[in-house]
Amino acid sequence: MIRSITRAKPEPEIDRLLEGLTRVFIIGCGTCATMTRTGGTAEVMQMQELLIGKGKMVTGDALLPVACDHLTSEALKEAGDRIRISDVLLVMACAFGVQTVARQVNKMVVPALDTLFIGKETSFGLFDEVCRQCGSCIIGETGGICPVTSCHKGLANGPCGGTKHGKCEIDPMKDCAWTLIYNRLKDLGRLDAMRKFQKPRNHRAEPMPGKWVPAGR
Ligand code: SF4
Ligand code: SF4
Repeated sequence: MIRSITRAKPEPEIDRLLEGLTRVFIIGCGTCATMTRTGGTAEVMQMQELLIGKGKMVTGDALLPVACDHLTSEALKEAGDRIRISDVLLVMACAFGVQTVARQVNKMVVPALDTLFIGKETSFGLFDEVCRQCGSCIIGETGGICPVTSCHKGLANGPCGGTKHGKCEIDPMKDCAWTLIYNRLKDLGRLDAMRKFQKPRNHRAEPMPGKWVPAGR
């Protein structure tokens, strides 16, 4: 299952972000942040205890089903009074969820998590990045394997000179992405794609700020 992968911000950073703000309403997310165990019920409860221990007043908490969903506004309405008396909303969701909340309420909103990447769970509690949304997808040429996220150097043409026995020179525990791509293309009878030079990645293809307008609109 594909998820927005998050990691808890260091405690001193949260302390700094909440400096001078006493009444805190905590928001968790029932989807990605629950799965990554960074913003589910248990983590929201832990955060509550932590903040109370630091002398904060926790005005309440809410676990939004999908923090980044447009229905978030409805869910927040239910906690309207408790949010109104709060100085700040501490959001334990990915950056998308934090921004969705921020657009709904006229309050300071502080993220409790850092958003790392879009990933999938490969084994219990372990997540691998699958896409960086680079804006110029080349996996049609690489047998469906993304070299941007799988190769330690993000090479569009590989392998580099360091691959050894199919392992990556930077992390010998990890398969070399370009060896995987080679094997995949070989299985598919498409090794010709491997010989095709890919232009260097155009980092400007990542729109700043991200915007996409469908043709004809
Ligand atoms: S090439 Fe870019 S868009 Fe395609 S899967 Fe990799 S990071 Fe995502
Ligand atoms: S060894 Fe393979 S995965 Fe590692 S940096 Fe080189 S090409 Fe990329």
